[in-house]
Amino acid sequence: MPGRQWDPASKAKVVLEGLKGRSESAICKRHRIKPAEYRRWRRQFLANIARPLEPRRPSHEGGSRLLPGMSKKVWEESAKAMRVAQELIEALPIPVFFKARDGKHLGANRAWETYFGVNREAFIGRTVADLFSSAPEVAAKHQAADEDLWRNPGTRSYELEVPVHDGSFRHTLNYKATFTGADGEVAGLIGAIIDITERKRAEQRQAIEHRVTRILSESETVAAALPGVLQAFCETLGWACGARWRLDARAGGFRCEETWSREDPAIAAFLAASRESTYQPGEVGLIRRVLGRGEPVWIVDVTSEESFLRGKQAARAGLRSAFALPIHLGDQVLGALEFFHRETQPPDEWLLKTGVAIGLQIGHFMARTQAEAELRQSEARFRSLTGLSSDWYWEQDEEFRLTFMSSRFVERTGIDPAPYIGRARWDEAALNLTEADWARHKAQLERHEPFFDFEMERVGPDGNSVWLSVTGEPVFENRKFRGYRGVGTDITERKRAQSVLRAAYDELARSNAELQQFAYVASHDLQEPLRMIGSYTQLLERRYGDKLDSDAREFMGFIVDGATRMKQLIEDLLAYSRVGTRGKELRLVQAQGALDRALINLRASLEASGATITHDALPEVTADDTQLTQLLQNLIGNAIKFRKRDEPPRIHVGAQDAGDEWRFSVSDNGIGIEPQYFERIFMVFQRLHTRDEYAGTGIGLAICKKVVDRHHGRIWVESVPGKGSTFVFTLPKTQKGET
Ligand code: ADP
Repeated sequence: MPGRQWDPASKAKVVLEGLKGRSESAICKRHRIKPAEYRRWRRQFLANIARPLEPRRPSHEGGSRLLPGMSKKVWEESAKAMRVAQELIEALPIPVFFKARDGKHLGANRAWETYFGVNREAFIGRTVADLFSSAPEVAAKHQAADEDLWRNPGTRSYELEVPVHDGSFRHTLNYKATFTGADGEVAGLIGAIIDITERKRAEQRQAIEHRVTRILSESETVAAALPGVLQAFCETLGWACGARWRLDARAGGFRCEETWSREDPAIAAFLAASRESTYQPGEVGLIRRVLGRGEPVWIVDVTSEESFLRGKQAARAGLRSAFALPIHLGDQVLGALEFFHRETQPPDEWLLKTGVAIGLQIGHFMARTQAEAELRQSEARFRSLTGLSSDWYWEQDEEFRLTFMSSRFVERTGIDPAPYIGRARWDEAALNLTEADWARHKAQLERHEPFFDFEMERVGPDGNSVWLSVTGEPVFENRKFRGYRGVGTDITERKRAQSVLRAAYDELARSNAELQQFAYVASHDLQEPLRMIGSYTQLLERRYGDKLDSDAREFMGFIVDGATRMKQLIEDLLAYSRVGTRGKELRLVQAQGALDRALINLRASLEASGATITHDALPEVTADDTQLTQLLQNLIGNAIKFRKRDEPPRIHVGAQDAGDEWRFSVSDNGIGIEPQYFERIFMVFQRLHTRDEYAGTGIGLAICKKVVDRHHGRIWVESVPGKGSTFVFTLPKTQKGET
């Protein structure tokens, strides 16, 4: 890329950037020039500032006269160069001025006029004391610098804060260089003023922000940090005092919390008065307005601002200007900061911006401390939860290696967790798990699924087995899998209790089966000798009936009767034991079919008793239809049997949909049952009447119960003695083992 052609004005602009504070490297980079070149321009520039007046005579006699010993050509060239330089100075955006040896101004460029708001023509012949009549200390400093230059001619530069056209103070960098007259004596000086306010302020702002950042980072609470923050702001920028306002929910408004001021009893009194006040967000005043609008507010003179309620106290403390700004957290106004100055200050955008930046820092700090407090609280909750719970807490990394185990683990199990740390669960064999079980568990973890009640039987420190149950969930951070965490429980006791229970259950099942078998075999085998008793008694009666006396015949009658009853008992018992052992598979059957068969079987007694039977529409059910027939037959049979003497039986078979089960009922208008027998009647051989009153063995309802049990339903009776009974039984719609 061909190098750029630099004209003098452009070079001057580049140099000015440096004078205003931009770093040399930044300038060189920006304009793609070498540092050596930049420095050369800078030297030339500063030298040129002093040069314009050199060929001139100090006596304003006009520029056309040749200086002694100067050729016309040289003079013309020199005059041309001078014109160029003068035009350049006039066009420069920085204030430039000339002064004679006696301190009186000889001239200045347009930028100077604008900067100080002074007419240069009118100012010729005036001194710096005239320029800064309102700030004699500024004039004195400039004069001192000039004196030094007169004594030791050459160049000087110094920084000074000076009042400018609008009365505000600006930071300036003053370059001055002496020039000599034709006689070689120092004739005066040329000065250039670089406004470095922006740079100064950036530095100041940076300094304040650093200080505030440091204070906040070293503080635990906003209350602890705030006095230091207020001090940093006031001290750096020359403000007299500051305060923070915060929402106090109890007081129902904003209150002044922390303050800072220089040692001054009057200001201390003012701040004490501030602390007494409570403000609501509003449209006037200082704090009220800041809170109401959520924007900074500046009051040039609080002593003359009616709506400023603390005006009198402020006047007594010698405070004049004030500004305040909100402390935001997002859209929420958390409070405000306010500052007071001893002199009236025009509103200063930069200062407000700096304040707002600090308000933001404080807002973030408040959010952070609040979040930290919440975190501490939730950690404390977590600690007491894990401390109080009998469970323990664990963590695993991405490789499923155990990284943390809470102390409750060793307390509960006696197992030292140290050997397990850094290893996966499956690195240590468990007594109850096979390789395949572990592989399944590992696959589940690799799918990042949660798992529940994963049981492991490990060997405890005393050689006994310890049962652990762990539950875990995967942990993700920014959607990245980070491992697992979860809880564990010692279930050794439960496992022991379970195994005892299982053993008892197994034993019970075994003895039950044995009993069933016994009942079956016994009742079956008893039939044979019974038949023998029956047939031989009959034979005896047939052959020797006429040889026996009436007593013997009566006794024989008892034997036959006893044998008949025993036969009935044995048959019923056999039927009872068959419910469990000879049942058919449960399948979908029509309950109506079962009812029809039961009624056919009962036809004789139905007719004999003159009973009327009604029924609901009966559903399809999952059942053993033979047993369902038997169940209905027994219940309807009882309803007929236990009828009132003077009333023919009216029987209703009901069926109701009760959600996941069917509810059947058999109601009669019979003799009813006393409530104290509601349970007993379902037991084997339990009867409420003698054989003379009502025939029977007391097994019918026991069979009903056994059938209902086998169908996983329930059976009970509802009855009012003398009115009738309702036997209710349920059948689940879905039987176990089915889906
Ligand atoms: P059994 O009918 O052989 O006596 P069950 O086991 O069928 O034996 O009945 C037991 C007892 O319950 C009966 O003796 C009777 O007292 C009472 N019972 C059963 N059904 C009814 C009913 N519908 N009304 C009144 N009492 C009944």
